[in-house]
Amino acid sequence: TTAPLGHSVIPIVNKLQDIFSQLGSQSTIELPQVAVVGSQSSGKSSVLEALVGRDFLPRGNDICTRRPLVLQLVQIKSKGDGTEDEWGEFLHLNGKKFFDFNEIRNEIQAETDREAGANKGVSDKQIRLKIFSPNVLDIALVDLPGLTKVPVGDQPSDIEARIRTMIMSYIKRPSCLILAVTPANADLANSDALQMAGMADPDGYRTIGVITKLDIMDRGTDARNFLLGKVIPLRLGYVGVVNRSQEDISLRRSIKDALVAEEKFFRSRPVYSDLADRCGVPQLAKKLNQILVQHIKTVLPGLKTRISAALVSVAKEHASYGEITESKAGQGALLLNILSKYSEAFSSMIEGKNEEMSTS
Ligand code: GDP
Ligand code: MG
Repeated sequence: TTAPLGHSVIPIVNKLQDIFSQLGSQSTIELPQVAVVGSQSSGKSSVLEALVGRDFLPRGNDICTRRPLVLQLVQIKSKGDGTEDEWGEFLHLNGKKFFDFNEIRNEIQAETDREAGANKGVSDKQIRLKIFSPNVLDIALVDLPGLTKVPVGDQPSDIEARIRTMIMSYIKRPSCLILAVTPANADLANSDALQMAGMADPDGYRTIGVITKLDIMDRGTDARNFLLGKVIPLRLGYVGVVNRSQEDISLRRSIKDALVAEEKFFRSRPVYSDLADRCGVPQLAKKLNQILVQHIKTVLPGLKTRISAALVSVAKEHASYGEITESKAGQGALLLNILSKYSEAFSSMIEGKNEEMSTS
């Protein structure tokens, strides 16, 4: 299955990677990190999982995410025969491969307990997990503990302040995209997520509002005005989603079935029928993809400048070899060739001639 996140971005990034490797450089465009923020059990882990398209995160109506989980998606080459390997590796287990995603979830839980204890303790020490798949974009997603007010279990009395500081340390980075997750069955106007995101990103250039649990709102209420930005305006807007319920989790309902159910939910609710572009996990993925493409467009001119400068210097060098050595001149000509080809490729990407670069 293709991960919804990255669908339109993967081809562009792959192309750029080809360019860089031709130029003998490993480095490619660094994509922004995506972090989730919100109160406990608002559906943060559920949203991340749906975006990745695999089941592997601890979820539940208790405090499940108790350490920051930095999830690095790593694209590997497709085998092209339909039998793709996808696996996870934890930093703390030195690259041991997990092919069973249920085992990945168990290890996240076990490693959480090792550091933060088994009694609801929270730690700011990261768990680092890489997921290798041919269907993902090279991007880092961060699952964070949720905001809580009342200490439980082994939590210290200042748990709220501690979690706030931890979350802030991620979302204040200018390169972090923030998914501000607010459950629709709580008081939307008092959203912790939007309040924190507003402090970290006052201009709202990197905050997407995500409204979860639209399926369990009070009867007779809906999130229409919120999705329209009439309650708390947000520059990048809102997307409403329906994730799996606790019952769905107990029944081990698949992500695929959940997406079908979500689509059915929105189709059967006239109140959301004219808001199709603000409803559903696929729309959230689309929004993120558009932002990532925009980000790439923004950094491309700088790359082009670098390539152009290299082009000029190689041309000069080439001119100066001339008679010296045949082979060196040959190498210079080759590099010159590659550089000018990619300089053109960059130009057309920046000007948006490339179909895939279109954000519309
Ligand atoms: P987190 O603490 O913010 O990471 O929240 P989780 O993703 O762990 O979800 C908390 C609980 O809410 C779980 O029992 C989920 O099944 C449930 N949940 C999350 N999103 C939805 C939703 O959109 N609808 C319903 N009915 N339940 C949801
Ligand atoms: Mg969670």
